[in-house]
Formats: sequence, C-alpha cells, structure tokens
Amino acid sequence: MSPQNDVSYIESDLYKIRHSAAHVLAEAVLSFYPEAKLAIGPPIEDGFYYDFDLGKDEKGRPKTFSPEDIEKIENKMKDLLKQNAKFEQSAMSIEEARQFFADQPYKLELIDELAAGKVDENGEPLSEPVSEVGIYTQRDFVDLCRGPHVGFTKQIKANAVKLLRTGGAYWRGDEKRPQLQRIYGTAWENRVELEEYLKLLEEARARDHRRLGKQLGLFHISQLVGSGLPLWLPKGAVLRENLEGFLRQAQLERGYLPVITPHIGKLELYITSGHYPYYKDSQYTPIDVDDEKFMLKPMNCPHHIEIYKSEPRSYRDLPLRLAEFGTVYRYEQSGELNGLTRVRGFTVDDSHLFVTPDQLEEEFIGVVDLIQYVFNTMGFDDFRARLGTNDPNSDKYAGAPEMWQRGIAAIKQAADKVGMRYAVEEGEAAFYGPKLDFIFRDVLKREWQLGTVQVDFLLPERFDLEYTGEDGQKHRPVMIHRAPFGSMERFVGILIEHFNGAFPLWLSPVQAMMVPITDRHIPYANKVAAELRAAGMRVEVDASSNRMNAKIRDAQLQKVPYMLVVGDKEEEDNAVAVRTRENENRGAISVADFKAQATTFITTKSMEL
Ligand SMILES: [Zn+2]
Ligand SMILES: [Zn+2]
Repeated sequence: MSPQNDVSYIESDLYKIRHSAAHVLAEAVLSFYPEAKLAIGPPIEDGFYYDFDLGKDEKGRPKTFSPEDIEKIENKMKDLLKQNAKFEQSAMSIEEARQFFADQPYKLELIDELAAGKVDENGEPLSEPVSEVGIYTQRDFVDLCRGPHVGFTKQIKANAVKLLRTGGAYWRGDEKRPQLQRIYGTAWENRVELEEYLKLLEEARARDHRRLGKQLGLFHISQLVGSGLPLWLPKGAVLRENLEGFLRQAQLERGYLPVITPHIGKLELYITSGHYPYYKDSQYTPIDVDDEKFMLKPMNCPHHIEIYKSEPRSYRDLPLRLAEFGTVYRYEQSGELNGLTRVRGFTVDDSHLFVTPDQLEEEFIGVVDLIQYVFNTMGFDDFRARLGTNDPNSDKYAGAPEMWQRGIAAIKQAADKVGMRYAVEEGEAAFYGPKLDFIFRDVLKREWQLGTVQVDFLLPERFDLEYTGEDGQKHRPVMIHRAPFGSMERFVGILIEHFNGAFPLWLSPVQAMMVPITDRHIPYANKVAAELRAAGMRVEVDASSNRMNAKIRDAQLQKVPYMLVVGDKEEEDNAVAVRTRENENRGAISVADFKAQATTFITTKSMEL
C-alpha cells in the first residue's frame, strides 16, 4: 500500500513529523545551494525524501551530493530544528503562486497541474482542478504544500532525525525528464525509535537477498543477458523446483489440471483481452514475425482462455482449473530493477478457474484454503488479507456494477466462511474485477504483498466464453485468477531475506554436508552420501584438503542444515557425528537413525532440524 493511501498513517503524528522534516531538509539544502531547484518532498513509509536539481557540472552531468555534503546538510537540519520556528499555513491564488515560484520550474509545473486538476504536490491524482494552492512557511522557506505539518520545528526531535542516502531520480519517474538528486531521510518520535529503526535497517542490509543470493550461489545477473533477467544457478534452481513441486502436488490434490503455453502470442490476443493497449506502458514493443505482430506474453490468462475455448464446454466440465508456472515479461525502468524482487521476466504460479456463477463462492473458498495451506507450510503466520474493491466514482473499472457487487459479495462470504479477516480497500481492485491480496509480514516486520485471488467477469465477456447449462442453454462462466506465491522470483527473494538464507530443511539446496576428518575417511563419506541420496536427500561431500573445522565453518556459511562429521569411530559404528548450521554439536548417531529422522522432517516439511 502506498503511504499516501493509508489513512491512519496520514493522520498520525509521525506523518506530520516526516513531512515537516522534509521541508526542513529543503531549507537546509537551500542554505548551501541557493540556486537549487526544488521538486517534491513527500513523507514515505518509514521516512521522507526531497528531490533537488543542483544544475549541471562542467561536463554537462547532473551535480550530485557527496557523503560529506549529506553530513553537512544533516547537521544544518539539526540546527534549524532546534531554533524553534513555526510552520505557518497560508494560500496563494494560482497567479500569485506562479509569480512567487517563477524561478522554480518544477514547482511551476506542479502549479500548472494543480490548476488543471491533474496531480497534486505529491504526484498523486487529483479529482478536480484547484483555484488556490496551499503554502507552508517556516522562517524564510516557503513551499507549495497542503500539509499537514507539526506546529513548530522543535516538535521534531533533532536526535530522532537522520539522512540515510542519496540517489538519482527522474522528475516524474520519467527517464526523458531531468535527473534529480534525491535525499532520503528518516524521522521518528524519539531517539530510541530512531535507533531501533536503524538497527532494523542494518539487519535488512545483512539479509539483502542480492548479497545472500551471490554468497549462497542461488542466482546471477549477467549484464550480457540483461538486467532484470536473473539466471538461476543450480542451488537456486533446486530451491525453486522444490517450491514448484510442492505447489504442483497441492494443486493436483485439489483437482487442478496442468497446462503449458508459449512465451509469445499474437498482438490480437492481447487486444481481445484488453491487456493491449491498457497495459501498454508495461509491455515490450511487438515483434514482427512474417506479416504478423507478436508480443512477449505479459499475462497468462489469454492463453488459458484459448485452452478453455479449444472444445465446447458443458456445466459437467466445470469448474475447470488450469494451472501453469507461466513466465511473463513486463517492462520495468532500469532504475527500478532490484535482484529477484523487481525483474523484467518472471514466472507466475498462475491458475485460472472457469466456474459457473453458482460455484464462485465455493471455488473461492478452495483457493483461499490453498493459499492458507501454502503460507502455513512456509511457516508464515503473520499475514493479513486485503479486499480490493472498485471505486464507484472512477471510470477505470470495466464491467457492470451488478457484476462487481456479486464478485465482492462472493469474496466476502468465502472469507467469512474460512474465518479469514480482511480489510476492505476501495479503489484497489484490478480493472476487471475485485480481488483479495495476501500481505505477509516478515521477521523484520516488513510487509510484502504475495498471493492474490481475483474474480473476473470481464474476460469471459471479451472472449465470449460459454458453457452449456443443465437447461441446455448457453451460459457465461466466471473466471478466478490466482497465484499463491505471486511470482517465483519475488517469492524466492523474500524467502531468502525472511530466512536469512537458512531455509527449512526440505527447501535447502544442500541438506547435509559430509565432513571427512582426513582423506582416509573420504570413501566412507562417499558411501554414506550415496545411501542418503538414495533416500532422496541432497548431500555433498567436502573432499577438500581443508581441516575439519574449516569444512564445518564453510558449510555453516553456506547455511547447510546438517554437517555430518566422519572419522575412524563413525566408520567403525556405521555412524555420523551431527552438527547443525546453528553450531549445535549433537554427537554420533547411526546412519539409519539420522536418515529416518531427516527424511521425516523433509517429507513433513518441518521447520525443525
Ligand atoms: Zn509539504
Ligand atoms: Zn490471469
């Protein structure tokens, strides 16, 4: 959820503190760079930022802030906060504002857009044009702003504010517009809160999936292949295939049918579905093949719909649940790309359920139940659901109002029946129907949107889908789109950070590392490894010339769940000495007992070791 939509946050003191801190940041920057041009400076989740244009250097490149500049600016901010100044609210007519901000081109553009009723000062859509703009002033710093702010600068504690980093950001997020220098900061109610937050940030940095992905050999981004197109290394592929296998099995048990579809499709397919030109900005330019135009698949739905249409359907065929790990391609700006969590090609654990209107609620329950099962198995207990409905005053939603009401009612009834609590968020629906999103909170209390279930009355219309009812008449089915993981790439990225790379046993790329004490013990280590592999375990043998302790440390750094140390004694007893990645020394146990225990944990997908 964008913080601009979170009412409780907007009304909180923290929001005012952060928004006010952004103004003081701009004031501090202007004290050193009176020529700086100001763009926008909104509060964001956990902090605030402000975008500046510092002009160009001799080589024509945008001037940037150095770390020393940031330190200087932060100190200045603290001084300004301590000198108590009032945040005064006033207003200007559009004309007055244009004159006042005459040498601030970005503010002028904002004023024009406010006057035209397009977007507000924070870049959020406006419902109508404004005739007057809000102004906030502290000392001689004047900003275009609707507030709200704290009353006085002293209400922001100087020891609870910190500037975090800088980065380039295009004006309006548009690569064709000027590049601005963004300063990110954070502000809290007091020093203790700030320190707790900084500790969490440090922890998040240590768990960064890009760093761990490299350290654990999970994925690689090659600049020759292209950014946003991750390559899954063998260990990452093992992890992902296990996740897919788990879901595939759960789906088979629930009557889903597997399908496989190509990565491209004719442009007409997406024109029919409405994905083109509706999602044009997030799609790649069509490809010419002979005399026809094809597109990289941005969505799997149209392909699955053509499978539905491949034969006449009767009510006896429904519900029809088609499932595919389908790879799709969507355009993301290069600056937005991030490891596995923001990519240009990703695989959706996609499924489309074609149901009769009478089956909608029951099938929705089945899907919610599957998602709960998936999350429980992953050990995700901290999640919430969000029902995204249409905004009745907006025209961006397709389909008749009755359809929307029916869809929303079905979701509510299904959620109530399974006892799933949810919050309703108006305006968060897909354009074709209401949806239920699942938001997971990881160990660092960060929220991630994962699975989603959407009800769709529109695509069945667009593709003229039919089934023959019991009455012998033609009827229109309803579609449910759903993906418990969301995207395999993003899900694995989140898993890496949540588990800090120490995955549950059943998902660990290497489940046990054999540690022969000397070269003499390598043949026995190989024999045990073969026996465990035959039982389905993923086992490696460290036959390097390293000493035992170094071998154990290496395996622990790789977050391998078990290290199985073998020497003369173990060989004699047909045993292994078990160490865990948490450095617990469990002593010797027979190979048969270890195998029985570990394989039980694996088949039950236990979190235990
Ligand atoms: Zn403001
Ligand atoms: Zn779909």
